[in-house]
Amino acid sequence: MKRQSLNVQDYVRGVESGDRAVLARAITLVESNRADHREMAHDMLDQLMPRTGSAIRLGITGVPGVGKSTFIEALGLHLINGLGLSVAVLAVDPSSSVRGGSILGDKTRMQRLSQETEAFIRPSPSQGSLGGVHRKTRESLLVCEAAGFDVVLVETVGVGQSETTVANMVDTFLVLMLAGAGDELQGIKKGILEVADILAINKADGENLSAADRARRDYKNALHLFTPRDAAWHPPVLTCSALESNGIEKVWDTVIEHRETLRASGAFSLRRAEQNQSWLWSLVEDELLQTFKANPDVQEELAMLVDPVRTGQINPTGAADRLLKIFFGTRDA
Ligand code: GDP
Repeated sequence: MKRQSLNVQDYVRGVESGDRAVLARAITLVESNRADHREMAHDMLDQLMPRTGSAIRLGITGVPGVGKSTFIEALGLHLINGLGLSVAVLAVDPSSSVRGGSILGDKTRMQRLSQETEAFIRPSPSQGSLGGVHRKTRESLLVCEAAGFDVVLVETVGVGQSETTVANMVDTFLVLMLAGAGDELQGIKKGILEVADILAINKADGENLSAADRARRDYKNALHLFTPRDAAWHPPVLTCSALESNGIEKVWDTVIEHRETLRASGAFSLRRAEQNQSWLWSLVEDELLQTFKANPDVQEELAMLVDPVRTGQINPTGAADRLLKIFFGTRDA
């Protein structure tokens, strides 16, 4: 069945009234790289902007298997059924655009949460280029806010730059961990601890309980070695069991405590201001790169340069220089 096409006003009205079908299509619109779609998306976002900014933005990361989807389901159900809030879940999965497959995008995830009327779950954008993940997720987040969600959860796997990207668009960044056999601290990426606001050791249940508690103490000690992201907040280390819904409330209470602490110190608005600035730059970078790659003269030259660069006949510096000269030389001043 052919879907009726929507104009910008239809999108705006649909999103504002919380219409889930229109919301899903509005996100598809912001995910599109097509020039006419980008233009519509800009118009739509301009109109939605006044309704954004008030949701609680929480980023969640962790290695595959740590229990992210189980955790998000447990947390989402607590927020909806326990606290009467509405929840949107977005995912950033850089693997999906590289390999076609996806670590996060599986349809069977979060089945119970997806049946809740107060929940909206959006799998990560799967096709298309790697570029623009930041923009797409950021814009999707704003669309969900305009649709009135109280909480927006942004999930990502700890792959590549994705956690920094997500840490850069949320108010609180939660890192889920596992207790290992005494080697907890070795496998962890240093970069992740630098952007974590809260750490939680998941799977603290059954035989794993004491190991989880040991891991909690180890991480707590390790965190002392880091300069905190915000002077007013030292990232706490908690334990939880997503499977048994244990400790989930405590994690959420800590999210709120983090939020209030940052608000009181002024760091909250500073963080949002910095995020806006970094968003501006990432938009400029995306746009420049896309325009560059789409330039026919650049494409033609690139086709001739790739092989010699690969085999070492032409050095990459010279080749890059040449491409840039062609690009700027062919563009209107
Ligand atoms: P993700 O890849 O990070 O999204 O992880 P999943 O949520 O898919 O969980 C991976 C596996 O760990 C599944 O078999 C879950 O049932 C299991 N799991 C998740 N959370 C817990 C937990 O708190 N305790 C235990 N024992 N298992 C868990």
